[in-house]
Amino acid sequence: MKVVVDMTLCQDHGQCAIAAPEVFRMDEDSKLVFDAEPDGSLSDAVQDAIDVCPVQAIFLER
Ligand code: SF4
Repeated sequence: MKVVVDMTLCQDHGQCAIAAPEVFRMDEDSKLVFDAEPDGSLSDAVQDAIDVCPVQAIFLER
């Protein structure tokens, strides 16, 4: 599973980090950092993050 975030869309609000903290987090500068190749067992959490992202910046490649 591969996670892609369009950083030109991302506004660093952090909803994804709340929905899937195993994959997404905000760094000390409140910028998004994420695991681009999370374990497949996290696919539901990643899907939750995709669903809550207000700018639809998160994409999943299986
Ligand atoms: S929810 Fe979307 S806009 Fe917000 S930090 Fe995550 S990817 Fe960026």
